[in-house]
Amino acid sequence: MENRWCSACGCSYLPRPQAPRQAYCTKPECRRERRRIWQLAKRRSDPDYLMNQTQAQKDWAARNQDYWKRYRQQHPAYVERNRDQQRERNDLRKLEGVAKMAPSADALSLDTGTYELRRIGCEVNANMASWIVAITVLSRGSGPPATAV
Ligand SMILES: [Zn+2]
Repeated sequence: MENRWCSACGCSYLPRPQAPRQAYCTKPECRRERRRIWQLAKRRSDPDYLMNQTQAQKDWAARNQDYWKRYRQQHPAYVERNRDQQRERNDLRKLEGVAKMAPSADALSLDTGTYELRRIGCEVNANMASWIVAITVLSRGSGPPATAV
């Protein structure tokens, strides 16, 4: 078996011989991502599955009406983190509004050219592959588009 690149994290991994179509590495967060993608597809393609899941969630919520209230009381760090993330989303929304009105020069400063593209954040990347990519600026927001390569 040859090394592959995980569909979730992009890191290199050795697939198990019993799973020739394996597309994700064995990290817990990548397994969760695989499961999430599978569930998303299943909900879209199987109306019975979707209905069962929806009903099960409703039943659970009816049996545990104060779950989230209690959870928030018991996990103040979770509440604070949520608050921070919402603040960031609100700030980003404000910035996006500004960006739509006047694109910033910094955001469009990438020039047409050849770049080396590589994944960051993998712990096993001593021999990490990288890609040589050609990026062509098609438009800088005003004027005619630049020529394509
Ligand atoms: Zn992974």
